[in-house]
Amino acid sequence: MEEQQLVYMDHAATTAVHPEVVEAMIPYLHGHYGNPSSIYSIAQEAKEAVGSARVSLATALGADVDEIYFTSGGTESDNWAIKGVTYANRKRGDHIITSKIEHHAILHTCQYLEKQGFKITYLPVDQYGLVDPGDLERSITDKTILVSVMYANNEIGTIEPVQELASITHEHGVYFHTDAVQAVGHVPVSVRSTGIDLLSLSGHKFNGPKGTGALFIRKGVRIDNILHGGAQERNRRAGTENLAGIVGTGKAIELATTGIEEKGVRIRTMRDRLLRGIQDSIQNTRLNGHPLKRLPGNLNVSFDYIEGESMLLLLDSFGICASTGSACTSGSLEPSHVLLATGLPAETAHGSLRLTVDTDNTNEEVDYVLSTLPRVVSRLREMSPLGKQVTS
Ligand code: PLP
Repeated sequence: MEEQQLVYMDHAATTAVHPEVVEAMIPYLHGHYGNPSSIYSIAQEAKEAVGSARVSLATALGADVDEIYFTSGGTESDNWAIKGVTYANRKRGDHIITSKIEHHAILHTCQYLEKQGFKITYLPVDQYGLVDPGDLERSITDKTILVSVMYANNEIGTIEPVQELASITHEHGVYFHTDAVQAVGHVPVSVRSTGIDLLSLSGHKFNGPKGTGALFIRKGVRIDNILHGGAQERNRRAGTENLAGIVGTGKAIELATTGIEEKGVRIRTMRDRLLRGIQDSIQNTRLNGHPLKRLPGNLNVSFDYIEGESMLLLLDSFGICASTGSACTSGSLEPSHVLLATGLPAETAHGSLRLTVDTDNTNEEVDYVLSTLPRVVSRLREMSPLGKQVTS
């Protein structure tokens, strides 16, 4: 393989828009560009297209069509769920429970509410990144109004015991929200059988367009609006619909959930080969996240005596796109809050590499990463006083 060929293994950061998704969107950028709120025929076509995309998402999640609300992405959905439920239920209580390893869209929203006087419990996780259902049970008080625990973690891929957490939450009459941005389109997700009251998803994580997403709100959940203005989304989320984006998200979820189990097996096989190859060729490595309860495409490993940002730059010079910590935290020198929460020392957390594999990766690309990474690691270790003591 040519050294400068691009090997994209950062699918947890974002994915390419699927060609069929692009094709589905184009007519709604011109031709059928009407405002779904208008009454002439091109507007009606637009309205129908939004309706079909809603059906696609509802079908994928096992939800009712009128429980799906389109948003501008995962961040907006998370903000809406947390702030909307908190404000609507403030008379019942002022306590929210989440976990220490949530995405900043949840953590920063909770910190914002904390400044307004709400009380937040940040549940710890074990060495694999799992929340203990017993900890949740012990944290719920008669003032708790919302529990929000992510479906799967964006950095280490750990899949949380969401069904059990939701069931404990419901026993106390509290709402359960999950940030399923990394899970939807990658593992089967069913809101009904899991007992989820609110769920956030994002189109660009499953080959849909960026700036698109949705919030599932179970019928009957008390939630305030966060965006005020027009009557769109059945009076709940104001703003002219991102028509082409919504159509694209609908198409993307259909494609992503077709054969999802088989695709998962193929992706997992590539991911596991990567892991074995890395462990066989590089000393002093550690797998982060749960060995089995994890997203099929996620691999997160730490290399002792390495600085993650340098590793990314060197990999980039070989055409390999990867990540250290989450895309949102790279650029800051803070070690990943997720890895620290699993008990990793800061130095080890700094030397972590996240490779996220998807269906558009190939076995040749896996081979290329496996032949390049050991060279990169050994070059960086040679430059570090402690790293010189290990061979690669
Ligand atoms: N939640 C999780 C778990 C994520 O991984 C991300 C994005 O990386 C988000 C929320 C934010 O989603 P968006 O990029 O659509 O705003």
